[in-house]
Amino acid sequence: MKILVVDDSKAIRQLVGECVKSLGHEVVFADDGEACVHHVAENEVDLVLMDVEMPRLNGVEATKIIREHKKADWFPIIFLTTRVDDDSFADDILAGGDAYLNKPLNPLRLQLTVIAMERIYLMRQRLYQAQRDLKIANEELERLSLFDALTDLANRRHFDASIEREFALARRNKSPLSVIFCDVDFFKLYNDSYGHRQGDVCLVRVAESIKRCVRRPSDMAARYGGEEFIVLLPSTHLQGARHLAEMIRQAVWDCALPHQASKIAQQVSLSLGVATYNGQYVRHQELVEAADSALYKAKEQGRNRVEIA
Ligand code: GH3
Ligand code: MG
Ligand code: MG
Ligand code: MG
Repeated sequence: MKILVVDDSKAIRQLVGECVKSLGHEVVFADDGEACVHHVAENEVDLVLMDVEMPRLNGVEATKIIREHKKADWFPIIFLTTRVDDDSFADDILAGGDAYLNKPLNPLRLQLTVIAMERIYLMRQRLYQAQRDLKIANEELERLSLFDALTDLANRRHFDASIEREFALARRNKSPLSVIFCDVDFFKLYNDSYGHRQGDVCLVRVAESIKRCVRRPSDMAARYGGEEFIVLLPSTHLQGARHLAEMIRQAVWDCALPHQASKIAQQVSLSLGVATYNGQYVRHQELVEAADSALYKAKEQGRNRVEIA
């Protein structure tokens, strides 16, 4: 443990320090309540051995300040005092002390009390570790609930929540909101030809290309379904969205991923549909449907192309 020994008497600091060090703990000293409060504010401490009678700020006052400042971070405080009456005992415990040793100090009792407090320290360490583990698990859970495991793009649920929010914002601010629907051409044939595993690898490559094109912090690229991706572009006009869609199409094309079974090329290609909300829709679903219709048009017009709603 890191133990802070607080006493205005140098002789007592030394005595207590030796007792505690012999148990293998790390010891630091403070010579009054103020120094103690400062030390605790700036440093990690596992246990405080606190003299009660000290000039300026006494041990009870210092303890009250520490407990007030460190509400979430609790560590034991043991009082060292010459006062043995019930009122003093009540003051010490109610101020936030956990144990109580009488002066003149009995080194054996001091050591045994430190040993008892060490059990609390170990419980506290375990609690902190559990809290850290829980935090990591929660972050992982949140990541899993928002991102697609294969491509690491936002998942459908994440996209749905985002478009709902962005649609409401666009309507209120009278700003445009664009959507690009992307679909891999002849992907069923790709799987048939190269196998599902290679199909997954292909989807990861396509997702990476899309991600590289989608740069603004407010933009979002998501995996909408199997081999369908969707890009959400707040405050973006149709021309801007069409331009980005063309960049995405070109980026995937430039990867030159072999696709021997494709009916339109020897490599993987994307068809894309673009739609922009300019106040004409009541529900965000209509915007996605419009982009989907444009995508359908792109498929009909020969694939590997961008069409607008
Ligand atoms: P089109 O050009 O008209 O889009 O043809 P297509 O074959 O891509 O269209 P279709 O929607 O008929 O086929 C999509 C295929 O995508 C079907 C399914 O086997 C495949 N697919 C969907 N999800 C995944 C996935 O997670 N991994 C792999 N490997 N394939 C998937
Ligand atoms: Mg004193
Ligand atoms: Mg599809
Ligand atoms: Mg497809």
